[in-house]
Amino acid sequence: MTQETYVFLNDAWVAPEQARVPVEDRGFQFGDGIYEVVRIYRGRPFAMWPHLERLERSARELELPLPRPLPELARLIEEAPARRGLQEATVYLQLTRGYAPRIHYFPDHVTPTLVVYAQPIRLQPEEVYERGAAAIVVPDERWLRCDIKSVNLLPNALAKERARRAGVLEAILHREGVGITEGSSTNVFAVCRGKLVTAPAGRYILRGVTRDIVLELARAAGIAVEERFLSREELLAADEVFITSTTLEVMPIARIDGQPVGEGRPGPVARRLRDAFRARVAEETR
Ligand code: PMP
Repeated sequence: MTQETYVFLNDAWVAPEQARVPVEDRGFQFGDGIYEVVRIYRGRPFAMWPHLERLERSARELELPLPRPLPELARLIEEAPARRGLQEATVYLQLTRGYAPRIHYFPDHVTPTLVVYAQPIRLQPEEVYERGAAAIVVPDERWLRCDIKSVNLLPNALAKERARRAGVLEAILHREGVGITEGSSTNVFAVCRGKLVTAPAGRYILRGVTRDIVLELARAAGIAVEERFLSREELLAADEVFITSTTLEVMPIARIDGQPVGEGRPGPVARRLRDAFRARVAEETR
């Protein structure tokens, strides 16, 4: 049954208008927090444990104490969509260092702020997957710990706004002296000379849960995989490009900066991995 109290805040499910955080919360003032987004299919979470393990890693890197053990967070993620009566959803979980009088260094006595709630999913129409989406390349202006899923998303939001103004789905990020890193909220893959190429895990990218599953599916299908940074020129000359994320799954990119990728439509590798990914989802959320 759908309930009014569907936002979990610290220790209780409350109504959204009751879900308030103090102005001196460090998430609000310093971006001192982390988050995860878990996809719900048919009322069931997909790949929840890899997301929780990544949350634990992000927390450790920022010396943020987890307010509850992971199995308890898992139960909250499972309960969130049911509270809103949602079958197809994403669950947003955010953890900040908590609130304390404003000082830059970590306050001595502070209790973390935890928020968990489900949102109805906003899916791209199936025809976008069939035709392939468009993207632009923009400079990667982020800090050097992109491996931490922190709530500091300003450069990502600026890049996504540039994509929106250009009328395309995603902004692909290029870091000076490094190469193509990832998308503003996705990981980027290309097929170059028969090999599937994506940026290596490390400080320059967020290691996507979807990315890792796609790499595993590719290797299982006998597709040669290379984890390295592509140059902008290589990306534009690739036979295929696709992006991955929890919400988009595997989305083919047919045009970059106005130019067609390969023949300007989704290629066989993207199709195959998209089908394999959907089969994995169906298996796991049966
Ligand atoms: N990179 C960035 C910068 C992201 O924000 C996201 C979305 N969380 C991803 C990659 C994709 O990660 P995932 O597959 O875990 O959703």
